[in-house]
Amino acid sequence: MSKVNRDEILSILAKYDKNDITIATLGSHTSLHILKGAKKEGFKTAVVCEKGREVPYQRFKVADEYIIVDKFRDIVNEDVQEQLRAMNSIVIPHGSFVAYAGLDRIENDFNVPMFGNRDILRWEAERDLERQMMMESDIRMPLKFDNSEDIDRTVMVKFPGARGGKGYFVASSKEEFDTKIANMLEREWIEEDDVPKAHIEEYVSGTNFCIHYFYSVLNDEVELLGMDSRFESNIDGLVRIPAKDQLDIGLDPSYVITGNHPVVMRESLLPQVFDIGDKLVESAKKLVKPGMNGPFCLQTMCTDNLEIVTFEMSARTDGGTNTFMNGSAYSYLLFEEEMSMGQRIAREIKNAISEDKVDDLIT
Ligand code: AMP
Repeated sequence: MSKVNRDEILSILAKYDKNDITIATLGSHTSLHILKGAKKEGFKTAVVCEKGREVPYQRFKVADEYIIVDKFRDIVNEDVQEQLRAMNSIVIPHGSFVAYAGLDRIENDFNVPMFGNRDILRWEAERDLERQMMMESDIRMPLKFDNSEDIDRTVMVKFPGARGGKGYFVASSKEEFDTKIANMLEREWIEEDDVPKAHIEEYVSGTNFCIHYFYSVLNDEVELLGMDSRFESNIDGLVRIPAKDQLDIGLDPSYVITGNHPVVMRESLLPQVFDIGDKLVESAKKLVKPGMNGPFCLQTMCTDNLEIVTFEMSARTDGGTNTFMNGSAYSYLLFEEEMSMGQRIAREIKNAISEDKVDDLIT
């Protein structure tokens, strides 16, 4: 439970001029379409930017105001917070905001109104909480192995924190696990401290779909806005080498995400997509009030049994939403316009302003 008092946030919001709201975010991750979408909905925009990283926001002309800081993490400094409040800012969280500001400071020191649920960010960051939420939602996840001794099939080994897949490896036995841990330590991709925290789960062989949803509090509806799949290095390159040569060169695969591409799914899979999104929203309402408000993402593998297995979730806008800055096949079906995730957030805030319900969207 965060120490930032919701009543205090609401009293800050009460003093805002609702006709002069600024949509603000940290300049990284998905900020281009967050800011662009806000401008399209008629808001003023502000970007908190690390010195030297202004260029994309200037060149794409998405920010009206710049708050330049030495380090990204300075977004939580008191003087920056004051500037944000003075502009009537609502801050949109994203993956880099969480990584740089840090969960503790977002929960305890960041007294600026934020879109969505501040408390839910910890649930995506900590694997046990994430798993608890997905289990309670009855969403199919990869089997988890508590001990490397128990490995009886191909497993994927992961380490804590958002690392974009760095240090992950596959193994099929305890011996292979030990050898690969030693190899990762030698490469300095993991540290000794990480070893006991290794998360071991069933390797799901299938195709990757990262599903981007928006839960509208105003409409009490889960919307499917887009889907992407990932470019991962070096595994994508490795599979282009014939099996015989793969053995010869002895390259170890890695799963570092380097980019995203938009995808659509077989239409017959969409009922499963809505089912898992709806279930997650329902259990989030019970587990961490006010729930999964706003954007969220389920990272999945679809098996050849046409079963969607979810191996990860993001409880805020996910990096893959950058694939539909100008809309996706799915957002077109719903809105008949080029709706990005950023614009969808801004549209919700705009609608809430006109219905006098902004309090419902903010923590
Ligand atoms: P993550 O950091 O959890 O998003 O994972 C990075 C990449 O590792 C994913 O995009 C997948 O390609 C792969 N991956 C993660 N978990 C699994 C799993 N259980 N089975 C197969 N591949 C996985």
